[in-house]
Amino acid sequence: MDNREAINEIIEIGRLIFERKYVVANDGNISIRMNNRIFISAAGACKGRLTEKSIVSVNIDGEYSPSSFHPTSEINIHLAIYRNRHKIGAIIHAHPPYATSFAVAGIAIPVKILPEAFLTLKNIVLVNYGTPTTQELFKSIEPYLSNSNVFLLANHGTLTSGKTLWEAFYNLEILENTAQVYHLAISLGNVNTLSNRQLNKLKLISSKLKKVRSQK
Ligand SMILES: [Zn+2]
Repeated sequence: MDNREAINEIIEIGRLIFERKYVVANDGNISIRMNNRIFISAAGACKGRLTEKSIVSVNIDGEYSPSSFHPTSEINIHLAIYRNRHKIGAIIHAHPPYATSFAVAGIAIPVKILPEAFLTLKNIVLVNYGTPTTQELFKSIEPYLSNSNVFLLANHGTLTSGKTLWEAFYNLEILENTAQVYHLAISLGNVNTLSNRQLNKLKLISSKLKKVRSQK
């Protein structure tokens, strides 16, 4: 993927997260790491209407050309994650309503209720509140960085990452869907969790599928 494709991908994912109401107004931010540059959405930009100009190219220290727009005010958390997790290639911060409602309620979302959540998300970490744009937010995530790509930020929203931007988006989409299903199951009065036997079977099937895919 070249830089232009990376920018186009941010524009496309921005539109998707806006249309799905994972962000409203100018909420949220998106970035992709390309070698030693990071492309990140500009401060105040509506994610549904991003253009090439509203994607800022910064280095790992957050420096950017004086002629470009300012990057998102949450840039420091993106940079800190890229510095700490070398395999992470993209990050999305959003405020999807179901997942965020659990973050506001201070209730963790279990992954062992749906096969996709268990296999794809693996671990949803609910972290303490940190004031947006400050180091507090990164400090709350830092201890769990190596365990998860999926975070619920208390009284704030979500942060998902992946090797690619599509992976970060799928993590966000599965997270929000799991939160919605969990919310509805709670309102029905019962939540069944998958048993260890069922989970082990899932792991087995998933590793077999991975092997088949890697042989192709
Ligand atoms: Zn936010």
